[in-house]
Amino acid sequence: MNLETFLQDALDARRAAHLYRERATLYSPQGAAVSAARYGQPIARDYLNFASNDYLGLAAHPALGQAATAASAQAGFGSGASHLVCGHHQLHRDLEAALAARTGREAAIVFSTGFAANMGVITALLGRGDAVLQDRLNHASLIDGARLSGADFKRFRHNDVAHLADLLAASRAARRLVAVDAVFSMDGDLAPLADLAALCQQHDAWLMADDAHGFGWLGPQGAGTCAALGLGATEVPILMGTLGKALGSYGAFVAGSRALIDYLVQFARPYIYSTAMPPAVAAATLAALDLLDSESFRREALVENIVLFRREAAARNLPLLASNTPIQPVLIGDDARVMVIAKLLDAQGFWVAPIRPPTVPAGTARLRITLSATHTRAQLIALVDALARALAATEIKTLAATQTIRPQTEEADHDL
Ligand SMILES: *Cc1c(COP(=O)(O)O)cnc(C)c1O
Repeated sequence: MNLETFLQDALDARRAAHLYRERATLYSPQGAAVSAARYGQPIARDYLNFASNDYLGLAAHPALGQAATAASAQAGFGSGASHLVCGHHQLHRDLEAALAARTGREAAIVFSTGFAANMGVITALLGRGDAVLQDRLNHASLIDGARLSGADFKRFRHNDVAHLADLLAASRAARRLVAVDAVFSMDGDLAPLADLAALCQQHDAWLMADDAHGFGWLGPQGAGTCAALGLGATEVPILMGTLGKALGSYGAFVAGSRALIDYLVQFARPYIYSTAMPPAVAAATLAALDLLDSESFRREALVENIVLFRREAAARNLPLLASNTPIQPVLIGDDARVMVIAKLLDAQGFWVAPIRPPTVPAGTARLRITLSATHTRAQLIALVDALARALAATEIKTLAATQTIRPQTEEADHDL
């Protein structure tokens, strides 16, 4: 087959299905207000940003940039090699110690990305003959890690502990890993971690929580979802978190027992065969951890904004999901309508991410609104007003649109 023909056909099919994705280009620092060129526009415009995972407004905080600059002056910029060869810097070591302390675990290991951390953990722990059980709404990196591991891969219905119990009871594998998003990235709800932990203990299964969206803002000192629920290493022995969201930096970590971390250093291939993150990134992350304490008002402001948004959205009958986190999806359903609404909002200067399959299950396209500590009350009210108008303006279109049959060209990541 001709490569270019294959590529064009795939791109055409994606466009026809209203699933074509385009990258916007940012011309300003990350933040609540940004300048960006979206939807193929040649020039940048100002937006109120409701699409970022920079929940605390730390991505452009001067302390992070200053820490990175100072560290670069001392340590140079590039790390030069993987951690096991000669790239493991004192700053990486300090960051690992700080993350272990923050999460109340014995030890931690830093990965360059959350995607690599999830792939690394699952493929290191499991192989053929083992079993991995995951919530069907888990992040793609957990799913891909499971596929790559070669273990028997089962998915349970979203947050359905009874379904997981059935799968565990039916599994004969000696090693069983249960992995969930602690905060679901496209729904914003929490996993029932206490119930999952009890079930895993009962079945001698290993529980892994991916706290990409809880670490940094939830729980005491921003220690994350497990800390908020009072769950330690006994209940959740494998804790993964990312550093590019609430922390405003880059990278990820796994925290757990000393043995778990030692094991990952030996066996996690994305860790072993990949260049270490620049030490300056570790320094910026350490500065972000300090800010969680010295500027704890950010966490409080974020929680106030979540409450305010939900109250104002409910007053306008917006179709919210049951989320008490900065991820506040507005369920639309139809892929074409979600794009029309996102573009209407775009024209008014609101940057809201339309999320379609296969990122979410078919028929559940949504606007994924994310809130930041740095949004003002007036900005949030302006957003909910604009949302209400856009939903009303597209109501009739929806009826027509939902009746058209969407071609099923996608591999649905979330179908059981
Ligand atoms: C963002 C995210 C990841 C990936 O982390 P990166 O550091 O961006 O690679 C993993 N899991 C979840 C739930 C995420 O939201």
